[in-house]
Amino acid sequence: MRFRLSVSLRLTLWYALTLALLLGGFAAFSYARFHEGLHRDFDHHLAHETRALRPFVGVESGGPVMQTPERIQAVAIRTGGTQGTYVRLLDTRGGVRYQSPNFDGMPPLSLPALGNGTRTLSQPWNGMPARTLLSPITAEDGSVRGWLAVTAFEWSMHQELDRLGSTLALGALAGMALALLGGFWLSRRALLPVARMTDAANQIGATDVRARLPVANGVQDELTDLAHAFNGLIERLDEAVQREKRFAANAAHELLTPLATLRAEAEVTLRRERSSEHYRRVLEATIEDSKRLSQVVNHLLVLARAEQPPAEEATDLSALARTVAGEAAERAARSRIVLEVEASERVAAPIGEALARTVVSNLLDNALKYTPDGGRVRLRVEGTPHEAILDVTDTGIGLSEEDRGRVFERFFRAPSGHSHTAEGSGLGLAVAQAIARAHGGEIHASSPGLGQGSTFTARLPRADA
Ligand code: ADP
Repeated sequence: MRFRLSVSLRLTLWYALTLALLLGGFAAFSYARFHEGLHRDFDHHLAHETRALRPFVGVESGGPVMQTPERIQAVAIRTGGTQGTYVRLLDTRGGVRYQSPNFDGMPPLSLPALGNGTRTLSQPWNGMPARTLLSPITAEDGSVRGWLAVTAFEWSMHQELDRLGSTLALGALAGMALALLGGFWLSRRALLPVARMTDAANQIGATDVRARLPVANGVQDELTDLAHAFNGLIERLDEAVQREKRFAANAAHELLTPLATLRAEAEVTLRRERSSEHYRRVLEATIEDSKRLSQVVNHLLVLARAEQPPAEEATDLSALARTVAGEAAERAARSRIVLEVEASERVAAPIGEALARTVVSNLLDNALKYTPDGGRVRLRVEGTPHEAILDVTDTGIGLSEEDRGRVFERFFRAPSGHSHTAEGSGLGLAVAQAIARAHGGEIHASSPGLGQGSTFTARLPRADA
């Protein structure tokens, strides 16, 4: 089993790590600053003691001497033990010329190396940290004649530092513990809606696409956005599922009815002997019906294929319009329909020839089909810098406002169109639209009203611009 690390736990761990770094850094910085400050204060204290002692130090030929040592006690050497100040006078070779009485009973304190000027040094003494300020004693001519060494214990200072250190460590640990608990609680609380959404999403089955994720009322945050987005997705899926169901039902119906008719006609014909003329008529009708069936199946195939990504091809819509119109000329003439083509300049669109032909011929086919005898149909191709536009205008039966929005639905046939002609499956425009959309375009239907003709405009991106 894979180790599961929940988001709340991960958030808490990251948060704890950041906090630990922050608190640790802060504690170390405070400690270092305090440590340094204490040392500085202590050195000031030693310097102060040295200044107070200096007037009592005289210089003789053998080296420095302490004058009136009984008086210094009151000035610098206040007490013995850990709180006291220990004073020594050294000659230039390091020989002890004087040491304050509180040295009695103390272990020997090693002599510092003598240098050129004033300096401080830390060293352990009697098991405790001691600090010494060493200052040179000069004669009137400026030559160094000896050294004044003032030593004191830093013991209490280190005690304070230890106390500060442990307080900081304890505070940081307690802060971390509280922050960890609080952080975990907070992130759990913040992620509660996610857990609820997960439960709800688990309830949604493949068939039960009507269920939705809970969306907190009155709150607008990233999680409600997510829930809305997810619900929108299910909504679209739901619509797609419903559409596919309708499509399958319509397709079955559309294929079953002519198949049943075909079969019935054949059965009725075979019941008894018929004249060869009769057989011929029935067979011709059968051919017509099979053609229609093939067309439906073809359209269904194109619809399925049109949803695939477009091929890297380009077709000149003007040339295509002229060809398709030429092929339809005879049919138009039969209905005494004037068929005009306005397509002179080359206008290419990024679409394969076969699919482009399907679009143009479906539109032209409809225009001819839904225009009564003696009407007029015009095919026009026009190019703008970015678009290839093809429109088919007729003086036919037109479209009601309501039907205009629905003509591109699969299997939709307007009642007005239905009464006009029995041909058609209601797939032609759906196919054309699907092809246009798969190639980044769109087909639009417009009509001034029923009986007043209509225009179908296909807009595609331009390939040769
Ligand atoms: P059909 O096979 O029925 O023509 P289409 O998808 O091509 O299927 O068209 C859908 C419906 O749109 C038609 O049944 C008709 O009612 C309407 N229609 C399409 N083209 C025209 C047009 N040029 N004039 C009037 N109505 C049209």
